[in-house]
Amino acid sequence: CRFYNTSRGCLRGDSCRYRHIGTPGAAPKPAPTQRNTPCKFYAAGGCNRGDSCFFKHGSEPSPLRTSGPSKEASLPTAPRIDKPEENAYACVICFDEKPISYGLLEGCSHSFCLECIRAWRAAGDKDHSVIMSGVIKTCPACRAPSSFITPSTNFYPSGHPMKIRTIEGYKANLAKIPCKYFIRRRGPNRYCPFGRDCFYQHQNVDGTPYVFEHGAE
Ligand SMILES: [Zn+2]
Ligand SMILES: [Zn+2]
Ligand SMILES: [Zn+2]
Ligand SMILES: [Zn+2]
Ligand SMILES: [Zn+2]
Repeated sequence: CRFYNTSRGCLRGDSCRYRHIGTPGAAPKPAPTQRNTPCKFYAAGGCNRGDSCFFKHGSEPSPLRTSGPSKEASLPTAPRIDKPEENAYACVICFDEKPISYGLLEGCSHSFCLECIRAWRAAGDKDHSVIMSGVIKTCPACRAPSSFITPSTNFYPSGHPMKIRTIEGYKANLAKIPCKYFIRRRGPNRYCPFGRDCFYQHQNVDGTPYVFEHGAE
């Protein structure tokens, strides 16, 4: 039987009219196709999976991209890489393939819905009104530290120039918003729990920046 020694095996089993010789599934399985597919995070400047990444870490793009071996059916959970520009950045928390807006983390290339990552972080906050915390927090997937979440309509992996620009732009906008802790106390007893690590505006009455000696508590 020509099916018996394939990885699929013979579906007819004992009722097959051909001879079943050897071990079912003994044929060597082809290497996972992912190993030949360049890692999109690595190509963009950094992959947190390192040596354990399913994808290939190398500079040269695979010449067999379209004519390469067909997808291995035994790996149904492998992420699709055919169209990196869409659907490739599903939310790690809810698996939504096309989040309306993403929450970018500084520290890694994991993709999240803005709502999912905010909810996940808020769960760890004692004060739910603190959207932005100066306290270092970690990615739910890889534990890479990031101090805040940047809203973005598009997803960019770490090292992508648009990611850097989006985060810098968001920081610049935060710095124009008066810190709600800072404005609470006038006079010499200025206070903000995040001190000089706060991303919001700390300003003296004369318009000059107020700089705390301490950082986040
Ligand atoms: Zn058979
Ligand atoms: Zn990788
Ligand atoms: Zn989500
Ligand atoms: Zn991560
Ligand atoms: Zn502040």
